[in-house]
Amino acid sequence: MAIERTFSIIKPDAVGRDLVGKILAHIEGAGLKILATRMVRLSEGQAKEFYAVHKERPFYGDLVNYMTSGPVVVSCLEGEGAVAKYREIMGATNPAEAAEGTIRKLYAENIEANAVHGSDSLENAKNEIAFFFEDNDICAR
Ligand code: ADP
Ligand code: MG
Repeated sequence: MAIERTFSIIKPDAVGRDLVGKILAHIEGAGLKILATRMVRLSEGQAKEFYAVHKERPFYGDLVNYMTSGPVVVSCLEGEGAVAKYREIMGATNPAEAAEGTIRKLYAENIEANAVHGSDSLENAKNEIAFFFEDNDICAR
């Protein structure tokens, strides 16, 4: 498998419960390298654009409110098959269905406040990295 880059968000519920260090350690422990990371507060416009694919879903408004409710930690990750590997260690969207030992099983509160985001395809990873790290020499190439 090829070396890939993927994009991660540690969401407001996890940042608010002081889980940033534990989640970044989990990511590194799984063999994914953190190329860049920073804490940001998403604007309403950024959250709406980031989740635009879900705009017809009933949970979209709540999701935008939640994602702007506090700071998040955005990261650019690299490794063998990074997109699928990060999705695997994150676990299922609904923590009640997430496999044992996954980030969402360990740390998520519920299907909305589910601790982390990870890109679901290489193409989306490129777009999401560009969205948050376009000015970063290490990630944005
Ligand atoms: P994933 O983050 O696993 O890729 P989706 O792309 O389906 O999941 O959904 C994006 C985000 O929207 C989820 O991570 C979660 O925060 C929220 N979400 C998804 N489904 C629901 C739902 N049924 N009710 C509330 N929030 C949801
Ligand atoms: Mg998704």
